[in-house]
Amino acid sequence: MSQVVLTVSPSIMNEIKKKYNSHLSDKQPPGSIFVAKTPTCTITGYRSGKIMFQGTGAEVEAKPWQSSSTPTSGKSPAKKKVGDHQYAPPAHISTLSAIGSDEVGTGDFFGPITVAAAFVDKNQIPLLKELGVRDSKGMKDPEIIEIARNLIKTIPYSLMVLPNEKYNAMQKKGMNQGKMKALLHNQAIQNVQRKIPSYDAILIDQFAKPEIYFNYLKGQSTIVKEKVYFATKAEEIHLAVAAASIIARYSFVMEIDKLGKENNVKLPKGAGSAVDLAAAKLIQKHGGGVLDKLAKLHFANSLKAKKIAEKADRS
Ligand code: MN
Repeated sequence: MSQVVLTVSPSIMNEIKKKYNSHLSDKQPPGSIFVAKTPTCTITGYRSGKIMFQGTGAEVEAKPWQSSSTPTSGKSPAKKKVGDHQYAPPAHISTLSAIGSDEVGTGDFFGPITVAAAFVDKNQIPLLKELGVRDSKGMKDPEIIEIARNLIKTIPYSLMVLPNEKYNAMQKKGMNQGKMKALLHNQAIQNVQRKIPSYDAILIDQFAKPEIYFNYLKGQSTIVKEKVYFATKAEEIHLAVAAASIIARYSFVMEIDKLGKENNVKLPKGAGSAVDLAAAKLIQKHGGGVLDKLAKLHFANSLKAKKIAEKADRS
C-alpha cells in the first residue's frame, strides 16, 4: 500500500476537505480534522497541517495538491537542516566516531574568535551525555565552564584563538571573516587528526557553503576534505560538534574576561548598545588605539563608540 504525506496551509486543507465532501467518514482518529474514503484511497487531514493519502490511489489523489504543499520533514530527502549539498552528513552520523568543529566570537565586537575541534569516539557518547554535553545554546556561562573543564580532560581536542590584533591586521589586508574561520577550522581539525588513530567522519558546523569553504582554503598546504561533512545546527547532530562548541565558548568567555580584567572593565558580549558604551569609555580613558587589542575594529560599533566618546568629551 502506498502512502503520501503532505503539509498544507489551513486554506488548502479546507479545499481538500471540500473536494472529498461526499466521501467523508465519521470515524476520525485523534488530532484529525477529517477522514475521507474513496474506493482507492483514505485521506486523513490533521490539525498539524499534515495530510495523509493511503491506498493504491494515494499518489494520484495527492498529486493535485503537491505544488501547494511544503516539503514534510522526516522521510523527505530534501531535509533543509543539513543542506542539500554533496557534503550533507549521512543519516546515522550521530552514532559514528567523529571530529566536530565550531567557532565562537564572530559576532562579538569584543574578544577573539575561538575555534575548537573535538573528537568523540562512539563509545564515549554515553559518558559525554553524562557530563552534560549537549547543544549549548541555552546554557549560561557557569554551566559552560563546568562542562568544558571536564570535557578538556576527557576528549582529544584542539583550540585555536585568534587574538584581536591579529584579526584586525588580517582584516585590514582584505581577508574576510569567513576565510579566517575556514583557516582556523582546517587547522584545528588537522591538530585533532594527529592526536587520534582513526575516525569515521568530520562534521563542521556550517558557516559557509562547502564550495566557498574550500575556496577559502585554496593554496593551503593541507586541506582536509576526506570524510568532511557540513551541516547547520550541527551541534544538534553530533556530540563532537556540541563538545567543540562548548570548548570554543569556554575559551571565549575566559578570553573576554581576561581582556576586561586587564583594562579594569567588564567587556559585554555581542554587538549591541552596551558594547558601544563600554567601547566609548575605553576610548575616553585610553584613546582610540586601545580597541585594536580588544575588539574587531571593522564592526560598526567602532564608529558608534567614537561618536559617543567625542560627544562626552565636548560636554
Ligand atoms: Mn557554529
